[in-house]
Amino acid sequence: MTRILAAKPVVEKDTQGLKEKVSGLKKSGISPRLEVILVGDHPPSLLYTKNKKKFCQTLGIECEIIHLDGDTNEQTLLSTIERGNEGPHVHGQFIQLPLPPHLHRVPIKDLILPEKDVDGLHLQNVGRLCQGEDESRLLTPCTPKGILRLLHYYEIPLSGKDVTIIGRSPLVGTPLSLMMTNHNATVTLCHSKTVNLQKFTRISDIIVSAVGRPHFIDKSFIGSNRPTVIDVGINTIEGRLCGDVSFHEIKGLCSAITPVPGGVGPMTVLSLAQNVVAAAQSCGRRSRGS
Ligand code: NAP
Repeated sequence: MTRILAAKPVVEKDTQGLKEKVSGLKKSGISPRLEVILVGDHPPSLLYTKNKKKFCQTLGIECEIIHLDGDTNEQTLLSTIERGNEGPHVHGQFIQLPLPPHLHRVPIKDLILPEKDVDGLHLQNVGRLCQGEDESRLLTPCTPKGILRLLHYYEIPLSGKDVTIIGRSPLVGTPLSLMMTNHNATVTLCHSKTVNLQKFTRISDIIVSAVGRPHFIDKSFIGSNRPTVIDVGINTIEGRLCGDVSFHEIKGLCSAITPVPGGVGPMTVLSLAQNVVAAAQSCGRRSRGS
């Protein structure tokens, strides 16, 4: 039997706890607030930011999307970030990626204060992750955090397991490799220059694909040990959403598999809300001096 690792029951379970935390914060005078900086009109970014705002609002988190024109210059972007950093009522902010090409030089990873960096990309937060610091004390990148939560909910252990991650981006693959290593998995991090990916995936207990190519993972990637397959990819074919995995082809060969849609995507949004609440709680502790 193959288990489908749907996000819905996890999101439902965690939402209740988050609502209670938000309500507790509000009673203590802190209204959790997120600011999202969106530059331009990249259609997937418009959709992602809208979904994130909607989910935050269902929890009682204030969320403002600061929508800047596609030709916004570097100075305007920097001053927008600075306003968020200085705003005493802003607990988290992030920049929806990708930025337009003329802003690619902007060193965004260093600009948002680490304590407001709800995307977990600031070098200080990544550095602490590299040091193996307890994740519960950190703001960690949302997609890896969501994947770990999904595995935990479905009681799929990491300790002692062999994991292959395909894709080494700073947003997904690289931090996920650190987090899974911190959970005592043995991780192989693959990328476009890896020779013979199947050599690694076919002996893995868990395979994660974060490549961004439909049907990238087919049955040639799956060994006889019925692995767990986590599909991070978000692609479209003829207007329909799909992941990196040929779901129907490999489903029967796996012990567990995430669907697209309804798998890693909603877990990423959940993690963002958890990071905003954690940032607001830390802000409250700092202002009480504890
Ligand atoms: P990215 O920055 O483009 O990284 C893609 C990675 O895939 C790179 O490391 C690249 O290797 C590797 N790659 C490309 N072609 C490959 C090949 N033929 N063989 C092996 N590796 C290959 O993308 P990303 O931001 O990590 O996102 C990856 C996918 O996940 C996209 O579809 C994105 O939309 C999706 N995503 C989903 C969520 C979610 O919440 N579900 C969140 C974030 C991203 P090199 O490093 O060598 O170039």
